[in-house]
Amino acid sequence: MSRRGTRVATLSTTMSSNTHTAVLIRGDGIGPEVADAVVDVLKAAEAPVEWVERKAGVSALADGDAVLPESTIEAIQEHHVALKGPCGTPVGKGFTSVNVGLRKRLNLYGAVRPVRNLAGIPTRFDDVDLVIVRENTEGLYSGVENEVTPGVVTSTKVATEAACTRIARFAFRYANRKGREKITVLHKANIMKLTDGLFLRCAEAIHKDEYPNIALESLIIDAACMRIVQDPTRFDVLLCENLYGDIVSDLCAGLVGGLGVVPGANIGDDMAVFEAVHGSAPDIAGKNFANPLALLMSAVMMLNHLAETRGDKRCGDAAVRIKTAYDQALADGCKTRDIGGELGTDAFAAAVIERLNG
Ligand code: ATP
Repeated sequence: MSRRGTRVATLSTTMSSNTHTAVLIRGDGIGPEVADAVVDVLKAAEAPVEWVERKAGVSALADGDAVLPESTIEAIQEHHVALKGPCGTPVGKGFTSVNVGLRKRLNLYGAVRPVRNLAGIPTRFDDVDLVIVRENTEGLYSGVENEVTPGVVTSTKVATEAACTRIARFAFRYANRKGREKITVLHKANIMKLTDGLFLRCAEAIHKDEYPNIALESLIIDAACMRIVQDPTRFDVLLCENLYGDIVSDLCAGLVGGLGVVPGANIGDDMAVFEAVHGSAPDIAGKNFANPLALLMSAVMMLNHLAETRGDKRCGDAAVRIKTAYDQALADGCKTRDIGGELGTDAFAAAVIERLNG
């Protein structure tokens, strides 16, 4: 039986009423490799999660399905949480990006991307510990593009008071819950006076009316990029509209070791999809080179989310066990190539599993 065949059989026999069901989307490119590694670690950590597997992206198309199948959407609506590997979307063939489509269909309006230094990954700064909160549903991702006349095209940036207020409240609530002290809102309101001006004003209103206890500062996006690379340790929570959040996420990933070590969550009012910041990295797919850590850290975020939203301490305990184990593995020098090591995807997962019980 193939590795994947074995996995599916294992998944379907671990069902019990005592576990949380989460949707697993392996994805494309390096997705299946890193997802397999993460499933193995969660199983070894006895995380109380059972997986229901669904497809999206190129692998769904290959099955003759839509790029974002209804069955995948329905499964997430039913189970409320998903762990998603990176999904590819064929470029220039009229397909909407799976990632954008999923966030819009499920109204996963807030992306949360924690960026912190990890033991064993030397970088220029030692105390980076910031969180990017990205608005996920509008801005230049609204998909409103027009060809005015051949050779002249437009892309419309959309900002609504409702969505700007919603993400500002989300960021302040997050900061408050996590004991974070300052939000920096990134904007270009000096040029985009209406759209970014609205984004900035909504953040200021939520700060003044609801969370005066948390500091708020604003920075123009270009100046912010310069300051972040000069000294990321002065930042706490970065509140960004959609495109700035996308770009700043990769920029900040570069400060702590790259895309292989930055996790993420896309959160709505009653659903959440956890995924790494990185894409499907087709250049290294199938070579056992990919770092599974970003998706593993996303799975830890999922466990913490289950602990918080369902009051299940076992999920929080499993999250701590896994985090302690991967921190220890890194400190012991167990690393994949992207962060200066030599281990393959599966060997890194094995190193984490070895350290699960102290
Ligand atoms: P997308 O457009 O889908 O967001 P991207 O253009 O940002 O994707 P990625 O697929 O994220 O690109 O990868 C960029 C490069 O970073 C890859 O070519 C790969 O070398 C490296 N990379 C990304 N993720 C990982 C990972 N998990 N492990 C190792 N290297 C990675």
